[in-house]
Amino acid sequence: MATLIDGKAQAAALRERIGIDTATLVDQTGVRPGLAVVIVGDDPASQVYVRNKGKQAEAAGFNSYTHRLTDDTSEDALKALIGELNADTDVHGILVQLPLPEQIDEQSVINTIAAEKDVDGFHIENVGRLSLGLPGFVPCTPLGCLKMIRNTGLELAGMEAVIVGRSNIVGKPMAALLLAQNCTVTIAHSRTYDLPAVCRRADILVAAVGRPGLIKGDWIKPGAIVIDVGINRITDVDGRNRLTGDVDFEAASEHAGHITPVPGGVGPMTIACLLANTLQAAQLAAT
Ligand code: NDP
Repeated sequence: MATLIDGKAQAAALRERIGIDTATLVDQTGVRPGLAVVIVGDDPASQVYVRNKGKQAEAAGFNSYTHRLTDDTSEDALKALIGELNADTDVHGILVQLPLPEQIDEQSVINTIAAEKDVDGFHIENVGRLSLGLPGFVPCTPLGCLKMIRNTGLELAGMEAVIVGRSNIVGKPMAALLLAQNCTVTIAHSRTYDLPAVCRRADILVAAVGRPGLIKGDWIKPGAIVIDVGINRITDVDGRNRLTGDVDFEAASEHAGHITPVPGGVGPMTIACLLANTLQAAQLAAT
């Protein structure tokens, strides 16, 4: 039976350390980390994420600024706001909540964020830095996954890592991070032949697909580390809504060595890593 990777507890421990380091930074330099979150439109899920980010930033001792724009906002107006935030010395991290309305080009907007304030790690400069193995901001979800994988205490070098999903925000940066840990990395996707056979090779399996229960129990190599990034809203037979991952958790737990639950796994670590990146941005600005 697998050991549960408790993302909630690991995130709480990380936030506690961030709170302590924030107090030290304020004491020693007078600089208090500031996180600005920009949300365009009124997507209910995005509103919940933005509220949580603001609350957790304040709990860590940060200044938190939320900018709410209507969904008819133009790309130019959004870029003008980002220009102001780039120039604001109280703001160390800028996050533009995705997705953006269709009249706005997401990557173009993200590239107007100053790279040293791009705490989401999506700016083309930070993407390039990760790819080259240079220091920079790493996207929060794969960063949180890596921390949980490392916290198993296992030697990662030489392990076979399989990532299912090749998005720019999860799959590709996850691959770069595991390659940097000297894993042998495979990225699988919707066109992969024989996905079960590819997954069965994995000492580390990261599922970032968005398909409830896609990864079956007998696809898991005995003892593997299984990280389930998927967040899927499903309706139970009794009509109740609940969140579930991309992995058939019960069946996979019979084979895995370590496994994350959904909810309570990757999600909480993602926000904690956003705070870690923002603190790092403030520390760099203070030096
Ligand atoms: P995307 O939709 O951008 O990418 C999904 C990937 O899965 C694509 O590469 C796609 O392949 C692949 N895929 C789709 N169907 C299959 C299949 N049947 N077999 C193999 N591969 C398949 O998703 P994201 O990366 O943005 O998100 C993935 C999941 O993670 C979602 O559930 C999302 O909600 C969740 N998520 C959770 C976060 C957290 O904090 N916990 C943060 C971000 C995302 P192809 O490229 O060929 O189309």
